[in-house]
Amino acid sequence: MRKKLLITAPLVLLAGAMALWQVGKSRTFQFFGVIVPRVNTTEKVVALTFDDGPAKGGTDEILRVLDEMKVKATFFVIGAELEENLDEGRKIVAAGHELGNHSYSHVRMLLVSPSFVQQEIEKTDRLIRDAGYSREINFRPPYGKKLLALPYYLSRTGRKTIMWDVEPDSKPEIASDSQKIIEETRSRVRPGSIILLHAMYPSRQPSLKAVRGIIESLKQEGYRFVTVSDLLAMAN
Ligand SMILES: [Zn+2]
Repeated sequence: MRKKLLITAPLVLLAGAMALWQVGKSRTFQFFGVIVPRVNTTEKVVALTFDDGPAKGGTDEILRVLDEMKVKATFFVIGAELEENLDEGRKIVAAGHELGNHSYSHVRMLLVSPSFVQQEIEKTDRLIRDAGYSREINFRPPYGKKLLALPYYLSRTGRKTIMWDVEPDSKPEIASDSQKIIEETRSRVRPGSIILLHAMYPSRQPSLKAVRGIIESLKQEGYRFVTVSDLLAMAN
């Protein structure tokens, strides 16, 4: 009997830890509140989202392409970087795009305390307001990671966890090639998709160069680009 327990107890613990790890990185499940990897709609709409930054240089280049293509996008910015580059945040807002909260210090928010979560989110909210953004502030977890304290805080404050269903520059074999990023996006997008791109930093030149092609190819297929807030409002 005792021997059996000695063997099964570690296995149960291991299985439990693995289940929590799966939940922590899931794009469709969390323990509290609403998680949004995409929106249910038959309309050909997509949301283009940019994570991290705002960085000097990167912001201007992205904004220039979006302006030329007449597309509104959503920028999930890091509080600490927004604090340093508040003018970049102001440019994003002035151009009519959405500013979202991507935490203050961009750490994996798995085993974190409720007070840490609150501080990370509310400090960044204040900076987003300083940048002039006045609409509802959506939140996306750094690395898409969440477990207990983060979803609990978000659900308690009436906010959804915004994830994504298309991530063309997350796989290294695709991320280094603009053409592959465009192709991967085109093949995975469906009505209501949320596309995640990282194009802020010099190391992400292929992603930056792919933005125009992504927009052109999806527009050709009849897609319209909206912000995350507008997409959420269109959910069936
Ligand atoms: Zn990030």
